[in-house]
Amino acid sequence: MNRSSNAILQECRLTIMQELHISVMTGRQMVPVEDFRLILSKKISRLSPILSNPIEYLKGVGPLRADLLKKELGIFSFGQLLDHFPYRYVDKTRIGSISDINPQTEHILLAGVITDMETSGEKRGRRMTAMLRDRSGTLELTWFQGITWIQKNIFPGTVYLVYGKPGFFMGRPQMTHPEVEPMQPEGGEARSFMEPVYPSTEKLKVRGLTGRHIGKLTYTLFSMIGEKDIPENLPAGMLQSLGLPSRWKAYRDIHFPSAAQDCERAIERIKYEELFIAQLRLGMLRSTRHRFSKGSYFGKVGPLFNDFYGKYLPFSLTGAQKRVLKEIRKDTGSGRQMNRLLQGDVGSGKTIVALMSMLIAADNGFQSCMMAPTEILAQQHFIGLSALLKEMPVTVELLTGSTKTAERRRILQSAADGSLHILIGTHALIEQPVKFTNLGLAIVDEQHRFGVAQRARLWEKGETPPHVLVMTATPIPRTLAMTAYGDLDYSVMDEMPPGRLPIQTVHRMEDRRPQVMEFIKKEIALGRQAYIIFPLIEESDKVDYENLMNGYEQVKAWFPEPQYWISMVHGRMKPAQKEENMQRFVRNDTQIMVSTTVIEVGVNVPNASVMVIESAEKFGLSQLHQLRGRVGRGSEKSYCILLTGNKISRDGKERLGVLCATNDGFRIAEKDLELRGPGDIEGTRQSGALNFKLANILTDRALLEKAKELSAQLLDRDPDLILQEHAGLKDHLASSQGKNPWSRIS
Ligand code: ADP
Ligand code: MG
Repeated sequence: MNRSSNAILQECRLTIMQELHISVMTGRQMVPVEDFRLILSKKISRLSPILSNPIEYLKGVGPLRADLLKKELGIFSFGQLLDHFPYRYVDKTRIGSISDINPQTEHILLAGVITDMETSGEKRGRRMTAMLRDRSGTLELTWFQGITWIQKNIFPGTVYLVYGKPGFFMGRPQMTHPEVEPMQPEGGEARSFMEPVYPSTEKLKVRGLTGRHIGKLTYTLFSMIGEKDIPENLPAGMLQSLGLPSRWKAYRDIHFPSAAQDCERAIERIKYEELFIAQLRLGMLRSTRHRFSKGSYFGKVGPLFNDFYGKYLPFSLTGAQKRVLKEIRKDTGSGRQMNRLLQGDVGSGKTIVALMSMLIAADNGFQSCMMAPTEILAQQHFIGLSALLKEMPVTVELLTGSTKTAERRRILQSAADGSLHILIGTHALIEQPVKFTNLGLAIVDEQHRFGVAQRARLWEKGETPPHVLVMTATPIPRTLAMTAYGDLDYSVMDEMPPGRLPIQTVHRMEDRRPQVMEFIKKEIALGRQAYIIFPLIEESDKVDYENLMNGYEQVKAWFPEPQYWISMVHGRMKPAQKEENMQRFVRNDTQIMVSTTVIEVGVNVPNASVMVIESAEKFGLSQLHQLRGRVGRGSEKSYCILLTGNKISRDGKERLGVLCATNDGFRIAEKDLELRGPGDIEGTRQSGALNFKLANILTDRALLEKAKELSAQLLDRDPDLILQEHAGLKDHLASSQGKNPWSRIS
C-alpha cells in the first residue's frame, strides 16, 4: 500500500504537470513554446567545442572505458564528465599517527617508512604484507591485488604517504589495500589537499575506473581547458550580490578544491545555478503562455454571481476563498487562457469557489463543465449545487455513465444549443466528448484520477480552449510545487471555514480493538455514523478483495444485524450497486461504511463522526490525511482512529504520530516528504523540473526561494533576455536546450 499510495501521489504530480502542459499546448493559439524554442536556437550555442568532444577522445579513456562511462554514468562527452561531481572529499591535509588509531577511526592519512615487504601464497591466495612505521608505532599493510605494481613502485626503507581505513586483527591495527604515494619533497610537511571522490559503479571499478581514477580523468580534462571553456551564464550583478564564485572557479573548485571553504562555495554556486535555471525556464514558459495564449474573455461579474453572493450563499467566504476567486477573476478577465491549479486541504471549501467561478462564466454567456473522478462524487456535486442554485435562473445537469439514453440525449441537446449553463459529470463527459456551444470553463475536481489523454479531450482541436481550473486536495509541499508546477498559475487555500472542530486522531494497536469497537458503538448510540477503511495491500484486485471481505465479516461480528446495518463499497462493485450502498449510508439507513480507499475523495456525509483506518501503517501520510477528511464535516466532534498491529516499527510510529499531532495537510505533506526523503522525490525525476545534479529541494530550500525570487525579477525586467547582461544566460539556455522539460511533451 505504501508503495502504491506513493505511486499515486507521484502519478498525481506528474499528471498535473504533463496534463497542464498538454492542455496549454494543444490549444489552437498555442504557438509560443515553439516560437520560444526558435528564438533560443537562433543564437548559436556558445558551448565550448572542446567540451562537446566524445568522451573516448580523452586521454586515458579509450573505446572500452568510454562504453562503460556511457552505460554506467551517462557520460558521453567531455562536458558531461565535468558535470560528474565528487560526492565527498578526503581531507588529506592532516597526517595522523599510528598510535591514534582506534576501532572508531574512519579513513586516516599516515606518513612513515615502509619495511618488511613480503609476498606469500600462490595464485589466487597470493598476498603481500608490509609494515608501516611512524614515530608513534607500526601498522601492518596487506594487499591481495595489484601486487606486481607494488613490487615495482614501492621501495622498502622509503617514506610514503599511506591512506585508508584501518581495521583490527587480533587486537592489532592493520590496513588492507591502502593507497600509497611518495611523500612530497618538503618531507613531513602537511599538504593542502582535499581529494575528490567520485561516484562509480562495480562494473567501472572492475575496469579500473574507481572513483579515484575518474578524478584523474577529470584532472586530465582540466589541464586541457581554460576559463573561456566554462563561460559565465549568470549575470555579474547577481553573482556579486549573492557572493558566489564565477562558473569557471566553481567548476575548478568543486573538482579540485584547495581548502574546504572553496568547495562549499563552489557547491553552493552550482546548486544555485541549477535551481535558478530551472526556475527561469518555468517562469519563461508561464510568461510566454500569459503573453500569447488566447482564452475566453470573462469581462464582467454580472447578476448571476451578484445575486448568488447576495442572496443564496449560505455562509460568508473565508479570506482564502475570496482571494482565490479574485485570482480566477483576474485570469479569466485577461483574455488569456487560464491554467490554474487550486490546492486546498480537504474541507477548505473548494466546491463553492468552483460554483462561483461557473457563475462568472454564465454571466459572460459561457457554459461550464465540472468533472469528478467518481459517480458518487459527481452526484454529490450535482445535488449540492442544484440545491444552492434552486432559486436561480441557472440550469445544471448531471451526465454520468449510468445516465439513461433519453435523458442523455436531452442533456446533450441542451449543451449543444447553449441552453445549459453547467454540466456536472464523470469521465462520461469526455468519453464521447460533449459538444458545447461555447464552453468557457472546465473544472476538474480531485484531478489525479484523470489521465493525460482524458484531459486533452476536454475540448476539440481547433476550439478556443476553455479556462481550466484543476482542484486537488492532495497538499503538495511548497518547494515541490514551486519546482514541479512552477510554470502554472497556482492558488492555495490555506484557511479553513470557521467553527470547525479539529478532528481528534489517535493511534491504537490491535490489543485495543475491543475498546475501539465499543467506542464506535457509543457514537452510533448518539446517532452518528462510522467509516472503517481497509487498505489496498497488493496491487492485485483479488487479494484486496479478499482482505476487504475478511474485514467485512469481522465488522459484522462486532456489529450484528438487525441492531446495526453496514454498507460496503469497493472497486469491484458495479456503479449502481456502489451507488445504492453509498446512498444508504448517506440516508443514515446504515451506520457503518466498510470500504477500501474508493471512499477517499470528496465524499460528504456530515453525520459521520468516526473514521477507523485498518493497517494504517500501510498508507502514505497524505492519503491518511485525505481519508481522515471524510469526518469532521458536521457540527459534532469527530475522531480518527489509526489501527495497527501490536508490532510496529519506530518509523511507522513516528509517521502516525505526525498525523495525531496535526490536522494541517500542508504540514503533513512536508513531513511526508521529509520522512520519505529525497529518494522518493527522485521518483518524480521524469518531470524534468526536478532533475538536479546537486540541488535538493528539501535541504536547499533557501537557495530555491532565492532562485525563484531572482528569476521572477529578471523576467519582469527582461522577459526575452535581450539585455546584454543576460547574453550568457540566453546562450546557456540555447545550448542546453535538449534538457528542456517541454521538449519531450510537445
Ligand atoms: P473541499 O475543499 O474538500 O472540496 P467542500 O467544498 O466540500 O470542501 O466544503 C466542505 C464543507 O464546508 C461543505 O459542507 C461546505 O458547504 C462548507 N463550506 C465551504 N466554505 C465555507 C465557508 N466559507 N464557511 C462555512 N462553511 C463552508
Ligand atoms: Mg471537494
